[in-house]
Amino acid sequence: MPLSFTQLSTYRRCPRQYEYCYIKKIPKGITLGEAFGSAVHNTLKRWGEEEIRNAEFGMRNETKQLEMFAEAQTSSEKPLTLELLHKIWHENFPLNSFSTRVEADMARMRGEELMTFYYDWWKKEQRMVVAVEKGFSVEIGNETKIPNSAFRIPNLNITGRFDRIERVQEGLHVIDFKTGKPRTQAEVDADLQLSIYALATLKDFGELPAALSLLHITEDGVLEIQTTRNESQVRDAVKQITSIHGRIIEKDFVPTPAVAVCKHCPYRGVCDVAAV
Ligand code: SF4
Repeated sequence: MPLSFTQLSTYRRCPRQYEYCYIKKIPKGITLGEAFGSAVHNTLKRWGEEEIRNAEFGMRNETKQLEMFAEAQTSSEKPLTLELLHKIWHENFPLNSFSTRVEADMARMRGEELMTFYYDWWKKEQRMVVAVEKGFSVEIGNETKIPNSAFRIPNLNITGRFDRIERVQEGLHVIDFKTGKPRTQAEVDADLQLSIYALATLKDFGELPAALSLLHITEDGVLEIQTTRNESQVRDAVKQITSIHGRIIEKDFVPTPAVAVCKHCPYRGVCDVAAV
């Protein structure tokens, strides 16, 4: 059975939360924060697709796009303007998740502000998008060989999705969007999700990414925290994943209650050891 990063992450947060969600399959609904984050991801996916479409027409930067605006009107591509990004945001806005009009209006405006921050970050440099919302599946255990590398990927199927991959001068740059509280550099350097992205990049593109970033898009602006992974770090990540997988197979679902985790847990109402 494939194991997604979301499953791994849930298990690391609390094994009982994993059991409730993936073994007992207790419905947990979707929070407003999750609905908002999902809408931001969907918007930036559409935006990335527009970038790819425009690049196929040879439109590599905003200036050129604006110069070709008249021509764009007669073909299928759209100029990559802030107005277009806001329009895509409005189309993806999860209106039905909000119980009042006031709440919805505030969230919509918050999203517009975040999209403006993203646009300002995006237009700072010329970007070559390789993929957006690209799914991956890495077999660990059959000793997958990587061309030109001594590294072998061992057996277990890890699935996930890249938010965005850009081609930069040094190689590939993997970018993951976040709308929650920004992480520290030390947390990003040790982040398992980014190690999995490095592993998947190695498998799908035959090279480790030159850089991996968490792109935090918040009311304070865009904060990009960059890191890298070498083969040794990827090997360590594989060991961590294999260890978690082994514990899941052994049905080790001993809870690890902690206020910081339990207060966001959708099962705190049914869990008898919840710390809140
Ligand atoms: S309430 Fe806390 S201990 Fe219980 S499942 Fe959730 S995170 Fe785990």
